[in-house]
Amino acid sequence: MKPLTIAIDGHSSTGKSTLAKQLAKELGYVYVDSGAMYRAVAFNALQNGWVSKEQGALADQINAHLDDLVIDFELDADGKNTTLLNGEIVEEAIRTMEVSNVVSHVAKLVPVRRRLVALQQQMGENGGVVMDGRDIGTVVFPNAELKIFMTASDEVRAGRRKAELDAKGQYHSLEDVLENLKSRDKADMERADSPLIAAEDARTLDNSAISREEQFQLVLSWVSELKG
Ligand code: C5P
Repeated sequence: MKPLTIAIDGHSSTGKSTLAKQLAKELGYVYVDSGAMYRAVAFNALQNGWVSKEQGALADQINAHLDDLVIDFELDADGKNTTLLNGEIVEEAIRTMEVSNVVSHVAKLVPVRRRLVALQQQMGENGGVVMDGRDIGTVVFPNAELKIFMTASDEVRAGRRKAELDAKGQYHSLEDVLENLKSRDKADMERADSPLIAAEDARTLDNSAISREEQFQLVLSWVSELKG
């Protein structure tokens, strides 16, 4: 049977990438973190002074320089997914609060989305891919065999993101972390082009009260069902 395409969308910090990586490993599929690609464009825009949390994005500047950006993924020595921007490792740099605070401004620009969606479609053209993001089941792979829409309570999401940041020595208050998650979700849901929304045929997964392992087993049962 042809390998599946698995699309995982949902709110910020709901554990999409954790689940996507677990599935890709178990099934021997490719994992693509589409959020990392938007983060890489936002990181570049920040470095050039083309975006700020308060003022938003300088669309003309960002759009005019999209051709200069080469975004790639590779596995590091420990087998961890690593994001490259123009050949440089930016995996850590794109995950700071500074980038999180501006990424949704950049992600609503239509030329940015067109370009990244085309790249994502190319990366998954042969199937056997697990991709996570906001518009994977609706726009990038509307024909994906398995679509999952993830959500969780505010408390669980903020706690999770804060722990991730703390572990990297990036200390922010729980309030600031929650404020960032909520404002990103709002911007992602309200943008005109490919807003964050569950595909009609997506299976909703609320993981506020289930363990990572329970969630994994549930999704594996969906995969077996589809593989027949
Ligand atoms: O997945 P992650 O939280 O790293 O994504 C960062 C941001 O990138 C999201 O808040 C959203 O603004 C944008 N994004 C998007 N479409 C995707 C993936 C991410 O707009 N498919």
